[in-house]
Parts: sequence; C-alpha cells; structure tokens
Amino acid sequence: KKREKEHGPKVHPELLELYTVTDHVLGVGTFATVKEIILKSTGKSYALKIILKKTLQGKGTMLDTEISILSKVRHPNCVSLLEMFETEDAVYLITDLAKGGELFDQLLNKGFYTEGDAARLVHEILLGVEYLHSMGIVHRDLKPENLLFEDKSENSRLMITDFGLSKVLTGGNDVLMTACGTPGYVAPEVLEQIGHGKPVDMWSVGVIAYTLLCGYTPFWGEDQPSLFESIISGEYEYEEEYWKDISQLAKSFIDSLLRPANQRPTATQALAHPWFRAMLEQDMVTPVSPADSVNLLPGMRKNFNARQAFKKAVRAVGLIKKMQ
Ligand code: ADP
Ligand code: MG
Repeated sequence: KKREKEHGPKVHPELLELYTVTDHVLGVGTFATVKEIILKSTGKSYALKIILKKTLQGKGTMLDTEISILSKVRHPNCVSLLEMFETEDAVYLITDLAKGGELFDQLLNKGFYTEGDAARLVHEILLGVEYLHSMGIVHRDLKPENLLFEDKSENSRLMITDFGLSKVLTGGNDVLMTACGTPGYVAPEVLEQIGHGKPVDMWSVGVIAYTLLCGYTPFWGEDQPSLFESIISGEYEYEEEYWKDISQLAKSFIDSLLRPANQRPTATQALAHPWFRAMLEQDMVTPVSPADSVNLLPGMRKNFNARQAFKKAVRAVGLIKKMQ
C-alpha cells in the first residue's frame, strides 16, 4: 500500500479542480488504468485514462501518436478524446465514458443473443473501422477488450477505443513494421514481420466476428509459438457443435476476412457483404427466421467463461509486472 502511494502519480491540480476522481476503476489495459470521473460543473461522468510515463519505457512517441489520433476522431462508433492533462509522471486523457463496459462482459449478461445480434455488432465495428481507415488510421489492436458499449441498454452503440497502437499513415499504403497487437486477434503478416497496413484491422474484424458467433477464437495454441503457428497457417474450423445453427453467409463473411492481406476486402467492401443485408433486414420482418431465433448464449457462455478466466490470469500477470 505504502509503496503504491510513494510511486503513485500526483494528479494534475487543474484536473482535480474541474473533476472529481472516483474510485470506480473502469478497466485496466496494457498501459493504462481507466477511472470514472465527474465534471463538477455539470455532474456528468467521463472516463479518465491514466498512463504512467514510466510504463512507457521509451515508447513515448507511441503515446504522442495516441493523443494526436484520439483528438481527431469524431464518430459514433469511436470513443472521443475531450481533454488532456500532463504531469511529470503521467498523462491524463479524458474521454467519453462508455457505461456499458467491454463487449463480452455485457453480452454475457444478456438472456438472449442471436446471429442477427452478432451481425449488428460487427456492422457497427466496421463502420468505426471504415471511418478510422478513411482518416488514414490503422488501429492495429482491435480486440474485444477495446470494444465498449456506450450504455447498458439493449440496443446500445458499440464504440472502438484504445488507439495506442495506431499510427496515422501519411501515404495510406505505408508499411508498418512494428510487431505489436495482441495474440489471437493479430494478423499473420504482423507476426511474420512482413509489414502491415489497413488489412490487419480487417483480419481482426474477422477474428472478432468468429468469436462473436461461438465464444472462442479461431486460432489457438497452448503457448505463444504454437498460437503464432496456428495464425500463420491460416487454418481454422467451424466446429459442428457450435456452428451448426450459424448461416453459410456468416461463414462466407468470416472466410473473406481470414485470408492473406492482399485478398481481404476493405472495410467499405466488407460492409457490403450480403450477410449484413440478410441479418439487418431481418429485423423488420415479423416472423423471425432461424438465424434470429436460435439463442447462441448457452454454447457461448461455456467458451466465454473459459476465456474470461484466462483473461483474468493474463491481467493478473500484467499487474504483477507493473508493480515490480
Ligand atoms: P490500454 O491502452 O492500457 O489497453 P484502454 O484504453 O484499452 O487502455 O483501457 C483499458 C480498459 O479500460 C478497457 O479495456 C476498458 O475496459 C476500460 N475503458 C477504457 N476506456 C473506457 C471508457 N471510455 N469508458 C469505459 N471504460 C473504458
Ligand atoms: Mg486496451
């Protein structure tokens, strides 16, 4: 406890004047702790992302990138940066508060969840990605932990956050050579270090879509090397037990993304996939078609829970590392 105090940052005085910092921790990521804060003048809540400079260890430019990118982003499916404060030890980013929490955490609380719901979520993610790509931004770390619901309502909007690993591409086709991103959702060309651009996000969307339909990721390995091998092989399956009720269109959508980089559709092209037409229009027809009547939650819950336990373990290790 004492150690934590000694090493904890002094919060920026102006920030403390304007906002009340609550004890409510919204989440802990690779670099940041995110807390709920309240703007004193209005009583409205926001998210405060605290990034300790010492955790960056020479990755300062990465942080500058995140800040310059976040401040430009204005889209319903992307979290906006509203204000920034900086002290000697830390950077404080104030963003929209996503009250609904992380994608999977909220899904698990639902009673009913269908392929149609998954399609609507993937569609929103793609709208956000299409916007980011139109700004010359490659996210490079698209994964469920970086997808947040705006609120807890049934039809809440989904928002993309955490542009920490993004880079603004000047040319649009620049090849980014840094190996980063998160195992499981990361594209093979990133692992092979043969450069990566916008298509890496499209791969991640494919992995997210797959995971949203069954609760587990398409590529798997007992350790990092075998996970990497699995991703680079590009081989995955639709296991009968979890995929029997899923439409062919969904599988063809996923197949279109989990391909070599030069064969993947752009976000705009992916948005035109017939899977969306079939699923989104279904909403308006009263007799529910099979895709919207099968509840995917029971099967997914089983897989999710395994994943969740794994995630907690990984986070615990991350926290221990941070404390050292
Ligand atoms: P990092 O760069 O360290 O991964 P993130 O920006 O992804 O940091 O934030 C870490 C976690 O904090 C997220 O996974 C999410 O659970 C939570 N979080 C981040 N931003 C918000 C927000 N605007 N509203 C609510 N929760 C958030
Ligand atoms: Mg994150």
